[in-house]
Amino acid sequence: MAAAVDIPIPYRIVALVQERNRLFAYPLEQMAGDIWSSRFRCTSCGECCTQAVNNHIFLLDHDVATVKKIDPDAYEPAPDPEFCDQNGMLYVSGYALRMKNDAARSCWFLEGGKCRIYERRFSGCRIYPHMLRRSAGTPGNITWRQFARRGSHGQYDPTLPFEECFEIAREVKEYENAYLNQQIAFLETLHEYFAVHGLRHDPGRYYDRTQRYRQGKPVDINVFHAGEFEEHRIVKPDLFL
Ligand code: SF4
Repeated sequence: MAAAVDIPIPYRIVALVQERNRLFAYPLEQMAGDIWSSRFRCTSCGECCTQAVNNHIFLLDHDVATVKKIDPDAYEPAPDPEFCDQNGMLYVSGYALRMKNDAARSCWFLEGGKCRIYERRFSGCRIYPHMLRRSAGTPGNITWRQFARRGSHGQYDPTLPFEECFEIAREVKEYENAYLNQQIAFLETLHEYFAVHGLRHDPGRYYDRTQRYRQGKPVDINVFHAGEFEEHRIVKPDLFL
């Protein structure tokens, strides 16, 4: 199967639009029922705020506006940039929360196992672990499923009311819709940007830049935010874990 980056950008946009249509069609009641079945209740163990559970916590555009106000040092280009042009510039679809260089690789805001900005935490933090995951096992046959690490963290709460599950389901669909919109806008903007500036994705350069980064050398990256690209030079050695 072709890697995603080998698929022409317009086809990828169409696939994401189809995915968004599936999201709209996914019955809210069904997902609320799924959540109610698992009756997951957060026990504030803090595990999902570390790389033991999550590689990174992606920030939607409005989350970036929030984190800038709270602490401008708390975010960074999201890992795993997808594109690199022939001049060696990498491209990624957004920002993520910065992880500390501690043993657990914990979120910037995790202190003593607790979130120090819990009331203002970000969209992905609020809905976790009730995310709808897109699994494309069979090409063209995208399915949706609930994600929760049963038995690993959190606990089963038999008192969780169905109304609360319904509200969580609504927030999850809102998050997934915003996420897909951001991915679609990223690809549309990139496609136009490449056309206007005579650029193209260069797999050789991509490999070269990722190697450079692993070796601790600086690389340049354009991060998509609020409809535009923001240029950064990054030197952290742990972008491509
Ligand atoms: S912002 Fe808070 S809830 Fe979100 S990952 Fe960081 S510590 Fe966890």
